Amino acid sequence: MKHNFGAGPCVLPQEVFKQASQAVLDFKDGLSILEISHRTPEFEAVMTEAAKLVKELLNVPEGYSVLFLQGGASLQFAMVPMNLLSEGQTASYLETGVWANKAIKEVKNFGNAHIVASSKDANFTYIPKDYTIPEDSAYFHFTSNNTIYGTEIFDIPETNIPVACDMSSDIMSRVIDVSKFDLIYAGAQKNIGPAGVTVVIVKDAILGKTTNKIPTMLNYQQHIDNGSMFNTPPVFAVYVSLLNLRWLKSKGGVAEIEKENIAKASALYKEIDRNPLFKGTCAVEDRSRMNVCFVMENPELEKPFLKFVEENGVEGLKGHRSVGGFRASIYNALPITSVHALIELMQIFEEKNQK
Ligand SMILES: *Cc1c(COP(=O)(O)O)cnc(C)c1O
Repeated sequence: MKHNFGAGPCVLPQEVFKQASQAVLDFKDGLSILEISHRTPEFEAVMTEAAKLVKELLNVPEGYSVLFLQGGASLQFAMVPMNLLSEGQTASYLETGVWANKAIKEVKNFGNAHIVASSKDANFTYIPKDYTIPEDSAYFHFTSNNTIYGTEIFDIPETNIPVACDMSSDIMSRVIDVSKFDLIYAGAQKNIGPAGVTVVIVKDAILGKTTNKIPTMLNYQQHIDNGSMFNTPPVFAVYVSLLNLRWLKSKGGVAEIEKENIAKASALYKEIDRNPLFKGTCAVEDRSRMNVCFVMENPELEKPFLKFVEENGVEGLKGHRSVGGFRASIYNALPITSVHALIELMQIFEEKNQK
């Protein structure tokens, strides 16, 4: 049994893998999910139920649309300003890491980006606080969980302007108040499903205001009007996402998984803080519950530790190249038993390295 701490694509529940495999062989009367038309009632039902489950699990209020799009979160970096900004206007961004930076970079094709605050000065190991968001910005954008550095924003910044959020790596991991957001997007491959589909939750009222000419495929309104079926959707990715959303619902939904996520993260951080060989890399109050980043007091032990855990079934623990050390991604589908297994390995390694 492998313990997959990979940052994305990442572990999904075993039962989802099994059901997905079955649908490849026989989804409907001996036909594979891969060969039926997306216009069949059976697939239309998949799309409808997937959107309905996103709304239900996140308690999405009236007036919002849920979309399943392609292009990853990375395409959203451009689609957000393309749909929400007009030439000459400014959008405000919080700079909390590489992903935030990539989003900021896309703005200048459509208007101006204003950075309200940055934690670049400390390699993004904390979340900037006490900044002001100019009320004359077209919208404010932030990244709720910084996958690479292991920081997470638990208090949604207060502002009167529209709020757009890259929630790729912590969506569905904790209860959020969707009414505080105007646009949420997330590449599916961390907590929703497999790679190949991106979930967008958008408040209908913020659309249709830009003077930009928007290519059809990049226009949120087009996708809303066509129920995410303007063209052929990524049918398999949507189907596997549906299976995973059903799994989450059967576990008791987001509030229940949040409790488990808190238990997993607390146990791991507790060991990092207790074990003299290890130390966390982020400000304690900003520690992510999804990506736990840590290093060793003695960097020379990092390679041997990685080898040791890999020999014992741990996958994907190596930190991102811009941070080094280790990153344990503990998304919804990673069982707490895997976290306990890692903690035990950290303790065995501690014993082995006591002289
Ligand atoms: C993984 C990730 C992305 C990139 O997603 P793609 O779907 O690969 O484009 C963007 N933002 C965050 C926060 C991520 O974790």
